[in-house]
Amino acid sequence: MLDLSTVRPASAAAFERAKAVIPGGVNSPARAFGGVGGSPLFIARADGPFLFDLDGNRYLDFIGSWGPMILGHCHPAVVEATIAALKNGSSYGAPCELETRLAEMVIDAVSSVEMVRFVSSGTEATMSAIRLARGFTGRDLVIKFAGCYHGHVDSLLVSAGSSALTLGVPNSPGVPVGCTQDTIVLKFNDTAALAEVFAAKGDKIAGVILEPIVGNMGLVPPTAEFHRELRQLTQKHGTLLIYDEVMTGFRLGYGGAQELLGDKPDLSCFGKIIGGGYPVGAYGGRADIMKKIMPAGPVFQAGTLSGNPVAMAAGIATLNELKVNPPYPRLEEQSKRIGEGLLKAAASANVPVQFNRVGSMWTLFFTDTPVSDLDTAKTSDTKRFGRFFWEMMDRGVYLPCSQFEAAFTCGAMTDEHIATTIQAGAESFQAVAKG
Ligand code: PMP
Repeated sequence: MLDLSTVRPASAAAFERAKAVIPGGVNSPARAFGGVGGSPLFIARADGPFLFDLDGNRYLDFIGSWGPMILGHCHPAVVEATIAALKNGSSYGAPCELETRLAEMVIDAVSSVEMVRFVSSGTEATMSAIRLARGFTGRDLVIKFAGCYHGHVDSLLVSAGSSALTLGVPNSPGVPVGCTQDTIVLKFNDTAALAEVFAAKGDKIAGVILEPIVGNMGLVPPTAEFHRELRQLTQKHGTLLIYDEVMTGFRLGYGGAQELLGDKPDLSCFGKIIGGGYPVGAYGGRADIMKKIMPAGPVFQAGTLSGNPVAMAAGIATLNELKVNPPYPRLEEQSKRIGEGLLKAAASANVPVQFNRVGSMWTLFFTDTPVSDLDTAKTSDTKRFGRFFWEMMDRGVYLPCSQFEAAFTCGAMTDEHIATTIQAGAESFQAVAKG
């Protein structure tokens, strides 16, 4: 484990103190730096594209709170809207118009969504969507794909990606067999396996849930064939197609991955950006399905802080900014430049890598094998990745602290920040090559 106590003593001391009272010193395992052999930085504040740690160091932030901060930190429109909402009270436990406004904005943005229900996290969104799919179809089986992460829902914590994968618990202790016996796990991009399962059990499958463009085993796009087959098979068998757009929603375009892929899933899950940095999740889709949710229908789902007015205001301000001043073309161009720069630098240092990218989501895999699923993602040299991560950190670039995560470019980054990142990458690859 890298010893932070000499280089970043304030973070090291804060981590020791936290570990005594919080399991592993963190409130979510992805933050623990378990994938890079070290301990986490403690953050004092954030502004625009930057994070500042307790030791006073500044970093270009390519995590962005694991996705939400697409506009950068402390965007003035979001800060202003949030403060204004706060002054009207922080929670009512009763309906307010901000909820309807954000719902209208989501429906306007995502063409497959006709009705939407707000919850407080991505996990709640996927958990509720699965319950709804089962309640609507009267079937139990659900298909998920190895390496996709849908939050810490019991029935979906099987071959899970993200920190479950990084920390070696893709199937967690504490999840009873009974909770996962109706979950079928398939390989991502394996069209033949998908067709086989549908041929055998199609009329018993309630839903297929997937990250339409995967971020949680590192960035992995679907093949055109896999994507086409998913829609055809689900439609043929009356199975609901559930897009988990918690990461990709409002990130890969205002209409999310489904806009990019030209698709219309039956249900979609959102989180991260939709709350502008506050705890918000949502699930939505076809009105005939959504009307099965209580109190409109019999499928139970509830939440004391759901539709929280402050969080709704932050979400509205964020979506409004994304719609009025779309950052997407610039994010695409800047992220493309990062890829070209890093690939060139890796080649001149003789370090084999793959750069997978869609829009502003990208992953640099330390392998010479093209990455299209979990097995190929796992061919990466995670030790080399860890070395690269710390070299970048020492040069002021904060990347996701695991090989199996996506990095996010944010709208507050300038061309100069992109050039700094590429230069840091070139120096870091040279260090990695030396071993
Ligand atoms: N689905 C996806 C695709 C995610 O990336 C995440 C979180 N990284 C979740 C669900 C769970 O969201 P949350 O952490 O807000 O519960």
